[in-house]
Amino acid sequence: MNAAIYLRKSRAEENDLDTLARHREQLVTFAAGKHISVIKTFEEVVSGERLYARPQMLELLADVEAEKYDAVLCMDIDRLGRGAMSEQGIIIETFKNSGCKIITPRKVYDLNDDIDEQYTEMESFLARQELKMIKRRMQRGTQKTKAEGGHVANPPYGYKRGWDGKRPTLEIVEHEADFVRLIFSMYIEGAGGTAIANQISEMGAVPRRGKKFGRTSIIAMLRNMEYLGHTVSNRIKHIKGIKHKVIYKSRAEWMIVKNTHPAIIDENTFKKAGKILEGRYHPPANTGEVKNPLAGLIVCEKCGSYLQRIPFKKSTGQYTLFCTTPGCCTSTRLDRAESAVLDYIREYLAQIESGKMQRRENGKTATEALKRERKAVDEQMSRLYDFLEQGVYTVEVFVERQRSIKIKQAAIDASLQKYKNLETQKDFVNQVRMALEAYEQATPEGKNQLLKSIIGKVYYFKSKEYKPAQFDLSVVMHETID
Ligand SMILES: [Zn+2]
Repeated sequence: MNAAIYLRKSRAEENDLDTLARHREQLVTFAAGKHISVIKTFEEVVSGERLYARPQMLELLADVEAEKYDAVLCMDIDRLGRGAMSEQGIIIETFKNSGCKIITPRKVYDLNDDIDEQYTEMESFLARQELKMIKRRMQRGTQKTKAEGGHVANPPYGYKRGWDGKRPTLEIVEHEADFVRLIFSMYIEGAGGTAIANQISEMGAVPRRGKKFGRTSIIAMLRNMEYLGHTVSNRIKHIKGIKHKVIYKSRAEWMIVKNTHPAIIDENTFKKAGKILEGRYHPPANTGEVKNPLAGLIVCEKCGSYLQRIPFKKSTGQYTLFCTTPGCCTSTRLDRAESAVLDYIREYLAQIESGKMQRRENGKTATEALKRERKAVDEQMSRLYDFLEQGVYTVEVFVERQRSIKIKQAAIDASLQKYKNLETQKDFVNQVRMALEAYEQATPEGKNQLLKSIIGKVYYFKSKEYKPAQFDLSVVMHETID
C-alpha cells in the first residue's frame, strides 16, 4: 500500500516547535508496523484554516485526485480539514472519488464504505450543513447507480451481493432460491401464506432477519419483482424524526431496471402468483384437472382439512402432502402415502378372499332360515289384530304383544341386512380387484376416480417425532368387512 503523510499543527500546538517532527516519527513508525510504504510527506508549516492558505494540502489533493496514493496518513482526521465548510466538502469529496483512504493511528476511514457509521464520527469534523450537502451528493451518486441497474439495497432472500465490475448486483444463493421457487409453486397450487411459511420453516428455511418466516414476508416475496431479475428501487421512503417512519411509495414512483441479475422465478409463474394475490384467479385445485390421486380423499385426522399436494423438489418431480392448518400434522411424500393406501387395499382384498368367501356360502343358508322366521313373525302380528277384534286381547295386552313382535322383527331385519351386505360385498370385492388391476396404467385423474369408487376417506396422522417415511393412515372403504 502506497501512502502519503500529511502533517499539520492544530491551533493549540502553534507554539510547540517539535510537534510536526514528533508526529512524523509516530506516523512513520506506525506505517512501518502496518507495512505501508510512505512515498511522500506533506508538511504544512502554516496553520491556516482556508485551503488557499494551505499549499501543501492543495498539492496533496491534486495527488489524491490523480490517484497516486492508496491512503493518506495523518495524526487525526481534523488535521485534514478543520476550517471553512465548503472546503471540507472538497477534501472529503476528493478522497471519496479517488477511493483514497484516510488512516490515523486510531482508525481507518474509507469514505466509500459504511458511510453512515463514518459520518457519526465525522460530525465533529464536518458542520451539519456540509454533511447534508455531501449526503445529497452521495444520494445523487446512489440514484445514478440505481438508474444504471446497480443493486444498492440489501439483497432479498435467495440472493447475495455480487459485483459486475464496479456495478453492485445480485448473485443467486441456490439453497435459498429453492425455497423461493417452492413458495411460488405452493402458492399457485392453492396454499396460503401462513401454510407456506410453516411448511418451509419445517423444511429448514430461515429468514435473514427474525427467527421464522411469517405470512407477511411470504406475501412480500410473492410481490417482489427482483426475483424476475429486475432491480426495483424507490419503493420506500425513510423519514427520520423522533420515530423512524417508512412510507411505501406508489408503483408509479418505483424505479425498475430490467434484467440486472439472474432470475429465480420465470415471468409466467410470477404472473400466476400475482393474479391469485389480486384475487382474480382460482388455483387449479378448485377447477382444473386432478393431478393428485388422493385428491378429495385424504384428510388430516387432527383438523379434518384435506391434505394439499405441493411440489417438493422440482428436479426429482417429487410431491409432498401437507396439512394447511398452521402447526398441525407434519407432511409426507405423496408417493409414500399413495403406496400405503394401495397396500391397505391389497390387504383388504386378500383378507376377504381368504376367509370371508366361506362365510358368504354359510350366509346363504342362514338368510333362508331368517326369511322363514320373519314370515312366521309377520303372521303372529296379523293374528294380534284378530285377537283384538274378537275381544280375546284387551287393548293393553294388544299393545304389549305388538311391541315385543316389533322388536323381534327388527332383530331379524338386522340379521338379514348383514347377510345382504355380504352379497353386495361380493360385487364390491370384484370392483376392488378391477380397480387395483387398472390402477398402474391410469392417469392421475383416473387413479383418483378408481380410488374414489372403492374408498370413502383416508385419515392421515403424523407428528413431529415421526421419521420422514413414518405416518398413520386409516382407510375407510365404501364397504366394510366385519
Ligand atoms: Zn391438520
